[in-house]
Amino acid sequence: MATVYAASGIGRGAPTPAAASLRRGACPSIAAPMRTGDGLLVRLRPTRIGLSPSDYMAIARLAAEHGNGLIEVTARGNLQIRGLREETVSKLAAGLAEAGIDLLRGVAVETPPLSGIDPNEIVDAEPFAAAIRAAIAGHLPPLLLAPKLSIVVNGGGRLDLSDIVADIRLDAGRATDGLFWRVSVGGDARSAREVAVLANGDAIGAVLTVIEALHDLGSSARGRDLDANILRQQLRLPTCSGTILDISTPPPPLSPIGRHALGEGVALGIGLAYGQTSAVHLGTLMQGLEALGAREVRLSPHRSLLVLGLAVGMMEPAVALAGREGFWTRADEPGNAIAVCAGASGCAAGHFDTKAAADLLVAQAPDLLDGSLTVHISGCAKGCAHPQAAALTLVGQAGGVALTIDARAGDETVATVTDNALGAAFSRVAAIIQQERQHGEAARQTFERIGASAVAKAYQQGSQ
Ligand code: SF4
Repeated sequence: MATVYAASGIGRGAPTPAAASLRRGACPSIAAPMRTGDGLLVRLRPTRIGLSPSDYMAIARLAAEHGNGLIEVTARGNLQIRGLREETVSKLAAGLAEAGIDLLRGVAVETPPLSGIDPNEIVDAEPFAAAIRAAIAGHLPPLLLAPKLSIVVNGGGRLDLSDIVADIRLDAGRATDGLFWRVSVGGDARSAREVAVLANGDAIGAVLTVIEALHDLGSSARGRDLDANILRQQLRLPTCSGTILDISTPPPPLSPIGRHALGEGVALGIGLAYGQTSAVHLGTLMQGLEALGAREVRLSPHRSLLVLGLAVGMMEPAVALAGREGFWTRADEPGNAIAVCAGASGCAAGHFDTKAAADLLVAQAPDLLDGSLTVHISGCAKGCAHPQAAALTLVGQAGGVALTIDARAGDETVATVTDNALGAAFSRVAAIIQQERQHGEAARQTFERIGASAVAKAYQQGSQ
């Protein structure tokens, strides 16, 4: 039976949601919801990698009863419920417990969404993730770690986590003498700093050593604060001895949206438009999927869901159903290239309506959204939807919507327009990309060739 309610400490003298919320940098959970413009937000991390359609129906019902009915799946594949109130958070927790939906607590240890069923994976990452969670939970003395700390255990496969940034990461590889893990800190599979390449049996102990190093640095330390050279010396473990067969630079990840052949059956990936849906749409979708034969739905990075158990003949009806309920069903959906936060419609800090701006961008500049570059639309400089740099970031400020290029939302801006001049600004940027684009070129290549200053000039031209 579910444990979240009691384990969260609610009702046992723990801080109230109000007291626990609003910690800057904290991860919103049932025990510590985050206050946003539309009330309290909680992030749910179920203990099971997949839930049934009925579980999602229960979540949708609870989100409508206790929140404002808005439900999100984040870029990292986390489920969020918005618009809760102080008095409804504990009711949500009780409802989840009653529905048998147990939640994970503590450090986020993330695995590929098709773990255990993907014929292309190197190894099922879930048992390793469970072992890491157990080692952290059982550590004495208890470890004091940053609330947003994340560990990625990347077992590879079709939807691997090579593009997900983590404080600590384990990337599986194959060597002539078996499985090995590359342990690295502070980045995605390309950018993280390598600490060690270890035989399978040494990896979990190595992760604990890295975690202890973070604990020693203090409760706000992150992977970027670690010195990989010192860690290497501390570990003193023999590196993997076999010839490495495949750990080279990972290929760009596939979109979860679409069909993925498994050992048995096919997974159908569907996306939440800009990462958000309503309780009504989610409930209707899950009811329909269940009737079509779906038995499990997994949360997936890139704001999507993976539906398992559908017979091949039920794929088309499932895709049509998802489309009717406002979900994205194409991997090349232009909106996939845009990372959007709640904005003014869902967050008190938002300076403009980010989702309306995203719709405008899709309408005015589809050529820009071919998937070769990311556009980030952020209601303010905090950049919640995409903490990394993006090719183009539109960031809300008191004076309008500013632009950063190949930078993060909080970085220096290069041009600004007022909210109501945004459509015209998008048109000008689209026009210059279209005009300068050479045959067969992706938007990113054109963008790099013409340079940031030309893009900034087009964005702001005539709108002082
Ligand atoms: S980035 Fe968006 S969601 Fe985050 S605080 Fe700013 S407006 Fe709110």
